Amino acid sequence: MICLVQTSNDQLAILGGQPTRSELLPYGRQWIDDTDIESVIQTLKSPFLTQGPRIKEFENSVAQYVGAKYAVSFSNGTAALHGACFAAGIGEGDEVITTPMTFAASANCVRYCGGTVVFADIESDTYNIDKFKIKSLLTPKTKAIIPVDFTGQPADMDEIMELARDRNLVVIEDAAHSLGADYKGRKVGSIADMTMFSFHPVKHVTTGEGGIITTNSLEYYEKLLLFRSHGITRDKDLLEHKNEGDWYYEMHELGFNYRITDIQAALGSSQLSKLDGFVARRKAIAQQYNEAFAMNATLITPFQKSDRESSWHLYIIQLKLDELKVGRKEVFDALRKENIGVNVHYLPVHYHPYYKNLGYEKGIADVAETLYQGIISLPLFPAMLDSDIQDVVNAVEKVLGYYRRT
Ligand SMILES: *Cc1c(COP(=O)(O)O)cnc(C)c1O
Repeated sequence: MICLVQTSNDQLAILGGQPTRSELLPYGRQWIDDTDIESVIQTLKSPFLTQGPRIKEFENSVAQYVGAKYAVSFSNGTAALHGACFAAGIGEGDEVITTPMTFAASANCVRYCGGTVVFADIESDTYNIDKFKIKSLLTPKTKAIIPVDFTGQPADMDEIMELARDRNLVVIEDAAHSLGADYKGRKVGSIADMTMFSFHPVKHVTTGEGGIITTNSLEYYEKLLLFRSHGITRDKDLLEHKNEGDWYYEMHELGFNYRITDIQAALGSSQLSKLDGFVARRKAIAQQYNEAFAMNATLITPFQKSDRESSWHLYIIQLKLDELKVGRKEVFDALRKENIGVNVHYLPVHYHPYYKNLGYEKGIADVAETLYQGIISLPLFPAMLDSDIQDVVNAVEKVLGYYRRT
């Protein structure tokens, strides 16, 4: 066959050139090994597929890892956030402050309980919720704050906890991105009143679907247990009728069936034993990106505060759109054609039609809205090979080099 068009390695794939790699590299992916598989098989052969001993074991391991007294697992992270909002007593008329730069679930959990979401803008350097913006949005109706440790870097938790303490607010930390992260020498998971982790396959460790709340409060712990299992209790001390027999139970709250299975919990425990290695690899990859892009004048690499250590769920570059001839969409499309599975995290939550229809308008979070125009998430997961990292760097340099204003 004759090639009519001369292609060189420098030609963008989107313009007919050779892609940087032949197979798509996803932005995130689980890492399951034979010991994970073996622990799942053992559970499948055991008497309990659900409501058995693997669940408590997993909860205890997570609680111990993060340094919290209690942990309650859920069928997914979103259900866990719903449980936390229930335990916090959020209801109609309550305002809950969160960030618009997050996955929709951080706000949706407030809506499940009938509360009103208030979006506080983000810091322009860390992209985390801005404590000064939170302060300016507090009202007598404010009931809770849901900071998100965006990309894996903990939010300003000390200041947020202080704002909350002064006003009796509940702080629910959405730590879906920050399992294994450190904040002033402490692991994320025991700082807020309740902390949520997700075990979706793109997160640090996985159970397929799954989530957990960690807390030091016995009161929240008991409410979470109740909520996860239909609002049903068998606790003799709590029953209205105590002498009906051992089979007897009562439903005290309108709960849900939000339980995780023992099969998933077994996978989770096995995965958790590898968490530190996973986080170390994520940090090393982020470091390689930082070094590779340090001199690139068309993008901004992630900023990290010195008193905390991200666990690097995401690596986000911010395009300097003034330095480029095209917008984010063109850069994104070109990188995808190079077979780099870039992504965008996130559409500001108030831009979603559901929130727009509730009356949230553009302009309520300038920093998040402007940031959104230029962000791209690069592939980042522990199983990435060094050659994968090199492919990402080559593709970014190739595409941004081509579109750079001269
Ligand atoms: C993944 C994620 C969730 C929800 O977790 P699921 O387990 O997918 O329900 C919530 N918040 C943030 C920021 C997330 O990234």
